[in-house]
Amino acid sequence: MVIKPKVRGFICTNAHPVGCAKSVEQQIAYIEEKGNLGDGPKNVLVIGSSTGYGLASRITSAFGYGAKTLGVCFEKAPSERKTGTAGWYNTAAFHQQAAKKGLYAETINGDAFSDEIKAQTIDKIKANMGKVDLVIYSLASPRRTDPDTGVVYKSTLKPVGREYTTKTYDTDKDKVHDVTLEAANDDEILNTIKVMGGEDWERWMDHLAEAGVLAEGCKTTAYTYIGKALTWPIYGQATIGKAKEDLDRAAAAIIGKNTELLVEANVSSLKALVTQASSAIPVMPLYISLMQEVMKRDGTHEGCIEQIHGLFSTCLFGDTPTLDEANRYRMDGIETNDVTQAKIQALWDKVTQENFHELSDYAGYHHEFLKLFGFDVEGVDYEQDIDPLVKW
Ligand code: NAD
Repeated sequence: MVIKPKVRGFICTNAHPVGCAKSVEQQIAYIEEKGNLGDGPKNVLVIGSSTGYGLASRITSAFGYGAKTLGVCFEKAPSERKTGTAGWYNTAAFHQQAAKKGLYAETINGDAFSDEIKAQTIDKIKANMGKVDLVIYSLASPRRTDPDTGVVYKSTLKPVGREYTTKTYDTDKDKVHDVTLEAANDDEILNTIKVMGGEDWERWMDHLAEAGVLAEGCKTTAYTYIGKALTWPIYGQATIGKAKEDLDRAAAAIIGKNTELLVEANVSSLKALVTQASSAIPVMPLYISLMQEVMKRDGTHEGCIEQIHGLFSTCLFGDTPTLDEANRYRMDGIETNDVTQAKIQALWDKVTQENFHELSDYAGYHHEFLKLFGFDVEGVDYEQDIDPLVKW
């Protein structure tokens, strides 16, 4: 079939296998160009491995350090009439490239929140890796079924305490307008913490420890976004921010429960980027379009792979980690420093419907958005008839 993007609101409902493969190859090439990254992980479990920051972590582990990688993700396979999801094609491409280099790579496709998938993962680790020395937790999900109770929790993206009115950009209607987001109630806050907080990260680490598959000195990290004043009301101090605060609790709990193994658990704060998860958050497309304009102009723009390469080489496996008072690795310093934020704020104050495209890097945002699904990738012939039935 000839595959063209089908964009509905903040999501694209199809994906291009060749474009996805090319963008995975570009990330691999970025890491390989860095040369030998030195001592690093050997056996890596990536939970949320198929897109965004998790995929970049898997690529860095495998192609930067030669590690065996086991991925867990939740993706849809293609059929004769419908393409698979981008994460499906990314994973297929990753496997193909890993095989070329003789690198072990396996992926479990299913609900990472379930105990069944945790058990399958442990079986695979025992069979093919022995123990893991790095566990990356990079899930972004709107819901979670609690394996103990069967209750389904749903996350919301709302301010906490009081309603908040702010500018936003509607990517569907190409409109900058004010939006008032109503405050979350207690139940919505609790639900969001249940989905995006640290409970499941801790549960993964408990199961892995009980099964005896954590290597001594094993490191684990879960990703967060902290941001600054412009995004605090809808992120850092909102429902999702409350959930992310719970990651700090979980990190301390993981360390406390695994003192004999000397497990290191840190939350890593990364910069805002266009991913499937962030494009669903109100205000983020506007904020990221303005932030990218500033950071590209300043020559400080980074994507997933650059951020994760930095995290591994300076923090997780380097001697120059930037840690904050809560023991979090900080890779978001350039985005959140006062100089960058003042420049973004100045654009934010000026931006209107009329000048949006002139003031912002929406063109770059849109390109990155399409690229997430394998579209608008240089060198891909989008008129070509493509077989969507790619396997892994
Ligand atoms: P993403 O949407 O690109 O990736 C999410 C991953 O989770 C995918 O691999 C998906 O398959 C997997 N997944 C979702 N539900 C699952 C389930 N039930 N079972 C198994 N796998 C499941 O997201 P992302 O933007 O890369 O976010 C990853 C993490 O990084 C999140 O914790 C996010 O908060 C954090 N983060 C994101 C940004 C940003 O701007 N995008 C910035 C800082 C931190």
